[in-house]
Amino acid sequence: MIPIDSLEKTAQELTAKAAIEIPDDYLTGLRAAADTEKGDLSAFVIQAMLENYEAAKEDRRAMCADTGVPRWYVKIGNDARIEGGPVALEAALRRATADATNGVPLRPNRVHPLWRTDHNNNCGINAPEIEYSFHPDADWIELTTVHKGGLFGTDYRMLFPGDGIDGIKKFYLDTLVAFGKRGLACQPAIVGIGLGGSKDTCMVLGKQAACLRVVGSRNPDPKIAALEDEFKELGNSIGMGAMGFMGTNMVVDCNIEVGYCHTGGMPMSVHMFCLSSRRACARVLDSGKAEYRTDPQWFTDYSRREGVEWLTEQPASRQSV
Ligand code: SF4
Repeated sequence: MIPIDSLEKTAQELTAKAAIEIPDDYLTGLRAAADTEKGDLSAFVIQAMLENYEAAKEDRRAMCADTGVPRWYVKIGNDARIEGGPVALEAALRRATADATNGVPLRPNRVHPLWRTDHNNNCGINAPEIEYSFHPDADWIELTTVHKGGLFGTDYRMLFPGDGIDGIKKFYLDTLVAFGKRGLACQPAIVGIGLGGSKDTCMVLGKQAACLRVVGSRNPDPKIAALEDEFKELGNSIGMGAMGFMGTNMVVDCNIEVGYCHTGGMPMSVHMFCLSSRRACARVLDSGKAEYRTDPQWFTDYSRREGVEWLTEQPASRQSV
């Protein structure tokens, strides 16, 4: 049984890591952008950010004054048993978030939407978000925290099937230009695109594609992987770079995730994981030991499964149909 103390301690550690240490994959992507950036101001911003990450790590301080909004992704092995059950786990994640707000510290960004009540701990009604997925043949739990910045860097459009790939490209480019011109998220960013699903699923998939897929990863469908390559190049060809200044590196990478949708539509969402692409992950074993990493490995063959797992023995109700 996984001790609840280990889960809470790991969650606290992850919150500090996410706020302070830029993940290696994003850092590598940004260094590659620095090598090729042609715009003077864009190149200046990228260089300043690279130095900023170093300073944050050295001083053990958050890499950006806006520490975003902490959220949790929890993957539970099918054979995992949690001391106190899932309710204890949720309580531990909320405590870890509140502790880290004071300890790291994080900016207490979470407020009531109307009364602006601020508990000064990044917790409140429906905050922090906790999303779940499951994994077969495993007795561990994986915790990932993301401190999502780029408050306005998200958009959604209901396209029609007839809009095709050209329609998808148009919305993608419209979004990037609008985000860049209006300063809606600090670029260069990891862009996540959700295609399909119902509206809420489309938004969830796009955000997960931005925040939970590492730079350089590719969708297992070769045609979608080719689109990811093409969209990265396309996004870097609009004449905008870091922070929307003139340049050639607005997109560190582009990740696409799909979900089956209604036959009449083709919903699409676009999300930006900004210059502070904060995420940290750990697998907590049954013994309570934590193994830290920065790749959440959120999407798997299991999570993207397409078919139906029929029972070998059909129940009586189905046999009679
Ligand atoms: S968009 Fe990202 S890098 Fe820019 S201020 Fe917000 S958290 Fe910081």
